[in-house]
Amino acid sequence: APRIGVLALQGDVREHLRMLTDAGAEPFGLRRPAEVERCDGLLIPGGESTTIDKLSRIFEVRDPIRARLAEGMPAFGTCAGMIMLADRIRGGLPDQQTFGGLDVTVRRNAFGRQVDSFETELDVAGLAAPMHAVFIRAPWVDEVGEGVEVLASVDAGPAGQHPVVVRQGAVLASSFHPEFGGDDRLHRMFVDTVRAG
Ligand code: GLN
Repeated sequence: APRIGVLALQGDVREHLRMLTDAGAEPFGLRRPAEVERCDGLLIPGGESTTIDKLSRIFEVRDPIRARLAEGMPAFGTCAGMIMLADRIRGGLPDQQTFGGLDVTVRRNAFGRQVDSFETELDVAGLAAPMHAVFIRAPWVDEVGEGVEVLASVDAGPAGQHPVVVRQGAVLASSFHPEFGGDDRLHRMFVDTVRAG
């Protein structure tokens, strides 16, 4: 079974571990630099990207993760995890950095205060039926580079359509929390990618 490290510095880890196990993977909570080498794939959960950024330096996993991502390790980032995978960020703290690997510009807390958190039925390319998507102070994608597929978008009213699920090669990212909808299809899509890679 593919070994998938779930970055366990901060944020929601347990539901991801369960869904990855159900999807046939062998997941583990990743906290140490040496564990990065043991991953066939990496899942970065939601939480607070500023905190994940800081803790990744303190725990010295930032450099090994960046190196593996640059080599093409499959990855799945959800919410704050999407921010951590993005090459460019808007609305971040002045010194906030990401791991990178996904050629997109993300906007933090993009949906604004009034719609801080919401749930919707979302059509995702490649999935037969809509997904129940839980957005919590979520980012959206402002710009995608060549080679980035948009799998789902949300209509943000006057702000227009914004991508919320994107894929570039073996790197998948969602603005919402797929572990809270009781629907593991994105986790399965990711595990299939890790198996293929
Ligand atoms: N707003 C958070 C951030 O900027 C992300 C929220 C989440 O992961 N649910 O990191």
